[in-house]
Amino acid sequence: TRVDNPYAGAKVYVNPEWSANAAAEPGGSRIANQPTGVWLDRVAAINGAGGKMGLRAHLDEALKQKGSGELAVQLVIYDLPGRDCAALASNGEFGPTDIDKYKTQYIDPIAAILADSKYASLRIVTTVELDSLPNLVTNVSPRNTATPNCDTMKSNGNYIKGVGYALNKLGDVPNVYNYVDAGHHGWLGWDDNFSATVQTIKQAATAEGATVNDVHGFITNTANYSALKEPYYTINDSVNGKSVRESKWVDWNRYVDELSYAQAFRQEAVSQGFPSGVGMLIDTSRNGWGGSARPTGPGAKTDVNTYVDGGRIDRRLNTGNWCNQSGAGLGERPQASPAAGIDAYVWIKPPGESDGASSAVPNDEGKGFDRMCDPTYTGNPRNNNNMSGALPNAPLSGHWFSAQFQELMKNAYPAL
Ligand code: BGC
Repeated sequence: TRVDNPYAGAKVYVNPEWSANAAAEPGGSRIANQPTGVWLDRVAAINGAGGKMGLRAHLDEALKQKGSGELAVQLVIYDLPGRDCAALASNGEFGPTDIDKYKTQYIDPIAAILADSKYASLRIVTTVELDSLPNLVTNVSPRNTATPNCDTMKSNGNYIKGVGYALNKLGDVPNVYNYVDAGHHGWLGWDDNFSATVQTIKQAATAEGATVNDVHGFITNTANYSALKEPYYTINDSVNGKSVRESKWVDWNRYVDELSYAQAFRQEAVSQGFPSGVGMLIDTSRNGWGGSARPTGPGAKTDVNTYVDGGRIDRRLNTGNWCNQSGAGLGERPQASPAAGIDAYVWIKPPGESDGASSAVPNDEGKGFDRMCDPTYTGNPRNNNNMSGALPNAPLSGHWFSAQFQELMKNAYPAL
């Protein structure tokens, strides 16, 4: 039987491969013992792609790390057909119609391994399909943010079916805890996106034999950069009679940070019929925004824009920017039960692993070139036509990006 919070009273699995990369960096030993997500980002990753550890190797190592106590291991389920329909950097190996391959070549083998009685004592946290369901809400016609691929995935139903199938099969394993991706506040915090996303997740969670009881919770900010807490302004502030919601940065969003968004998302999910015990995870791997450029107090009350821009710690050009953000730092270290409704702060995106290449790189990993990773790109409707804010010279998504790792450590908040 499942516990309410799989992180409570448990150690969390340290991926030896990420740990070795971190430890090999100058100063990296300060964080090399932190737990990070294990990304099953293609079928080959199940048995170990390119000489890397496969799923059984990770779970065997997890049993060793566990010893006689409790241990949670964090797996990222990430291989939907037509994956990441609004971006190119992580498009993946399955085409839009490959739902049967997703089921039989990807989910079924993972579920079979997780169901091995050898692993029954592990608490297996699965974060399910980053970005997919939110894309069905925000990046489809008739919105100006629509992409042809997202329209296709909405009309063919294969995201809904794939997530439903994953939740059902993985949820059949008694020690698996499914957390469904819930985007982040700077994407879904607007009124026209927020409850519609919960509705879409509910649709998936009741498809292909899944029920809402297969959902243990939700994860926000996976591999993103949205600040956990904005210490110097709140959504309720106003300047000269104007709400901060009218500032260029907030732009009518209801939330200014991830903690408030995650807590509200939980409430909305429960009100739409998810179990009252659902908990939230927040990926804090790269949302620290520390370093010398971090504001130390509120902005000037000249107008809403000077106030928000002077005080905000999230220093992106737009919250739609997602690739290798310049100026970012490591966020809160992973920890259990940090706030009401939050099961844990986690590092699902392994710091130092790129979000995407800054120029086209031929590869056999299904990784395209997304100009949001190109520092010279001037944007599109999904980032309100701002510059990308990406670091230069980045390698393919998932590959080690030493310069980013160094900057993340330098700008860590809390500082290292
Ligand atoms: C990539 C994956 C990688 C993951 C973690 C994603 O953006 O597409 O291949 O495993 O990031 O770094």
